[in-house]
Amino acid sequence: MQYSKNLGVHLKRIFEEKFTKTPQFVFSPGRINLIGEHTDYNDGFVMPAAIDKGIYIAFAKNENNRIRLFSYDFDETVEVELKKLEAVSTGWANYILGVVNEIQKIKPLSSGFDMVFGGDIPIGSGLSSSAALECGVGVALNNLFNVKLQKIQIARIGQAAEHNFVGVRCGIMDQFASIMGKKNHTIQLDCRSLEYEYFPSNFEEYQILLCNSKVKHSLAESSYNQRREECEKGVQILKEKYPLIESLRDVTLEMLDILRHRLSNTLYNRCSYIIEENQRVVEASKLLKQNKLKQLGALLFESHQGLSKKYEVSCEELDFLVDLVKNNSAVLGSRMMGGGFGGCTINLVERSAKENLVKELTREYDKKYNIALECYEVELENGTHLINHEFYGSI
Ligand code: ADP
Ligand code: MG
Repeated sequence: MQYSKNLGVHLKRIFEEKFTKTPQFVFSPGRINLIGEHTDYNDGFVMPAAIDKGIYIAFAKNENNRIRLFSYDFDETVEVELKKLEAVSTGWANYILGVVNEIQKIKPLSSGFDMVFGGDIPIGSGLSSSAALECGVGVALNNLFNVKLQKIQIARIGQAAEHNFVGVRCGIMDQFASIMGKKNHTIQLDCRSLEYEYFPSNFEEYQILLCNSKVKHSLAESSYNQRREECEKGVQILKEKYPLIESLRDVTLEMLDILRHRLSNTLYNRCSYIIEENQRVVEASKLLKQNKLKQLGALLFESHQGLSKKYEVSCEELDFLVDLVKNNSAVLGSRMMGGGFGGCTINLVERSAKENLVKELTREYDKKYNIALECYEVELENGTHLINHEFYGSI
């Protein structure tokens, strides 16, 4: 992949000025999710992939039993004593300290360490900059202190850090995708068993284009929790007739229809969306295998329709962006990605038409909302990994 050399140059210089030694580097990617939205907490399937944008961390041990952190993007320093590890008031630092806290439960660190980090991934836009940071720190410390963690353990450590130090009860998908990513592949992940399978996803004349709506509606958090509760409520009612089910993952549309009279319209819509979206993920992986990208694209549009009309987690701006490309023959599919109420859309678009498309979307979006749309081309990349000496040696 093309590493962000400029960023590397800055991080290396800052590290050397601050700590007068040469660091090691790790790159940790953000992720996309091709299809399978809101299915993770219903024990269902998702289809994420790591991307070529993420977090770069320069790191080394130190001799003074302190953790010294510098965020290049926020231009902030945090220092804590290794022996007095606790959450701090500086938000970003907790993603790192949380990982240290989880690793220490397995093996106490033998010394302090220094880190300087920054990213080329938009923060808080649904590309999982937070998981990228956690996994990057996990791999860095695993290497530095020879902790011998497996990749999946590091993913779980990242998730636990977010639960325990940041206070966000996230699923495992983001960390899993960031660390397990494989170049030109998506990962079909079963969120119940964590079984996974890689699917070749070299889209050839097509590519993935993300469009950042740059909005974040205040509904995002409360509605996320509300949707989780609605799914649980649906399962509770369904359990009366089908006591063996544990989650919507175990329910078919036929089973749901038999109990339709027991569910409000809203609850019926929420449940049927999840059941259909799970089916779409299974279907998507088959289509990918057969390289049937047109049909795959159609599934993305269907997914968006469900998210918008049945699950009701889209918003005007995201609907607008998807509607704009619906009848464009250069766009195979488009949908909102992530929790909803803002963030990015993911689009499968013809490479040769990309430039014009970006221009058109940017113009129309600006005209309608007076917001400068940001578009990112992404390639599917390997998961979190150390960058060898040639990278930081030559910058
Ligand atoms: P997302 O994971 O979708 O990007 P989150 O809200 O989950 O959004 O995580 C964003 C938070 O992660 C930021 O507020 C910050 O605390 C931390 N973070 C992510 N990227 C960086 C970065 N480049 N520098 C510093 N902190 C970062
Ligand atoms: Mg996040």
